[in-house]
Amino acid sequence: MKVLVVGNGGREHALAWKLLQSKKIEQIVCVPGNGGTASMECCQNIPLAVDDFEGISQLALENDISVVVVGPEVPLAMGITDYLQSKGLMVFGPSKAGAQIEASKAWAKALMQEAGIPTAKAAVFTEATAAKFYVKSQGAPIVVKADGLAAGKGVTVAQTLGEAEDAIDAIFQGQFGSAGNFVVIEECLLGQEVSVLALTDGLTIRPLLPAQDHKRIGEGDTGDNTGGMGAYAPAPIATPELMARVQTEVLESAIALLRTKGIDYRGVLYAGLMVSADGDFKVLEFNCRFGDPETQVILPLLETPLEDLILACIQQRLAEMPPIAWKKGAAATVVAASGGYPGEYEKGQVIAGIQEAEASGAKVFHAGTKLNEPQQILTDGGRVLNVTGLGENFQQAIAQAYAGIKHIHFSGVYYRRDIGHRVLSPKS
Ligand code: ATP
Repeated sequence: MKVLVVGNGGREHALAWKLLQSKKIEQIVCVPGNGGTASMECCQNIPLAVDDFEGISQLALENDISVVVVGPEVPLAMGITDYLQSKGLMVFGPSKAGAQIEASKAWAKALMQEAGIPTAKAAVFTEATAAKFYVKSQGAPIVVKADGLAAGKGVTVAQTLGEAEDAIDAIFQGQFGSAGNFVVIEECLLGQEVSVLALTDGLTIRPLLPAQDHKRIGEGDTGDNTGGMGAYAPAPIATPELMARVQTEVLESAIALLRTKGIDYRGVLYAGLMVSADGDFKVLEFNCRFGDPETQVILPLLETPLEDLILACIQQRLAEMPPIAWKKGAAATVVAASGGYPGEYEKGQVIAGIQEAEASGAKVFHAGTKLNEPQQILTDGGRVLNVTGLGENFQQAIAQAYAGIKHIHFSGVYYRRDIGHRVLSPKS
C-alpha cells in the first residue's frame, strides 16, 4: 500500500517513519516533506504546496496512492479532505466543516457550550468597543484570542487591562487578517496543560497516550510562545480518572454533537486541556490534526499498526478494533531550533551530528530541514530537529534525548535544557 503524507514538519516525518515500519506499506510520498523524509528509504518528497489540492490529487491518482494522511490544519481548514474525496481518494483528516473546530475559536466555543464540555467562560465580539467594555467588566488577567488560525500568535494571556485592550486593537486592526474578524475573550485559567489526541471514525473515539508540550522558548517555561520546544508521553498529570472523564465529557460529547450537526468527523480530535491544582480540568482548545511535537513522542510508543487505525477511522470500523496497544515506558523529545526563533532566524546552516545522535540511541525527526546535494542536511525553518529518546521511565527517555542532541551542531543551534522538568522533579 502507498500512502501520501501532506506536510513538512516533525509530525509528518514521524508519521512517515511510523507507517514505514509496517510491511504493508511499500512507499510513502511526502508533499512537500523535509530533509528527514527525503533521506528515508521508500520515501519520496514531491515539491507541491499543501494547498495545491489539484496537484496533490493528480499525484495521488497517478501514483496509485491508497490513503492520503493530512498533517497540518491549514489544508484541512481549506477543505483538502472534501476535495480529494470528491476525486475518489481515501483521506485521513476531517472535512472542512469538521476542521472548524480548530479554524474558528468562536465556533469551537459555541460547540463546547452546547455540548456541556467543561471550558473557560467566554464571550465573542465583532468590534473593539464592546470587547473592551467586556474586558473592563471582567478584569485582568484575561485571555484575548483572534478567532481564526494564526499559527499560535493569535492568543494573548493579558496580565493587565491595557495589555488586553492592545491585543483587541491589534486583532481588529487586521494583524491576523480575516482570522481576526471575531475576538474571543476568555477567563484566564491556571494549571498545567496537557494534550489528549484521539482517533475517531465519527462514531467511536479512542484516546492516544496523553502528552505534555513545552510551549515557551525559555527554560522554566518563560519567554515567547513557540510551536513547541519539546514533549513527553505518557503525561502523568492525565491520570486514568481524568482520562475517563475526558473520554465521556469531552471526546464522546464533541463527536455526538458534531454528528447531530451533520458533521461526520473522521481523523484526529485533539483536546488541549488545562488541569488545575485540584485535578479538575477545562478544555482550552480543540485541534483537528496530530499535535507537533506531541506526535513525535506518541508514535514511538504506539504498538498497534498506525495504518490499521487510520483505515479503521476512514472506513468507520474503529469499534471493531482491539484496544490500542502501547509499548511500556516513556518517550521524550527535545527540539533543536534555529537561533532567534520564534523571532527572525537564518536558514541554510549545515547540520552535523544527526548520524551520531542516532548511533547514541536517539531517534531524530526532522522538522525545518532540507536535503542539499550531496547528502548534506541544511536548516530550513525555526524548529529544525526533534531528538527523541525512549526508555523504561522518564529519566531514561529524557537522558537519551539529551545524549542525542549533544551531537547536533549547526550555527546558532538552541534547545531547552529542561524538557521534562515536571516529571523529573514533580513539584516544579
Ligand atoms: P493560534 O490560534 O494563534 O494558532 P492556538 O490555537 O495555539 O493559537 P490556544 O491553544 O487557544 O491557541 O492558546 C494558546 C496558548 O495560550 C495555550 O496553549 C495556553 O498556554 C494559553 N491559553 C489559551 N487559553 C487560555 C486560558 N483561557 N487561560 C490561560 N491560558 C490560556
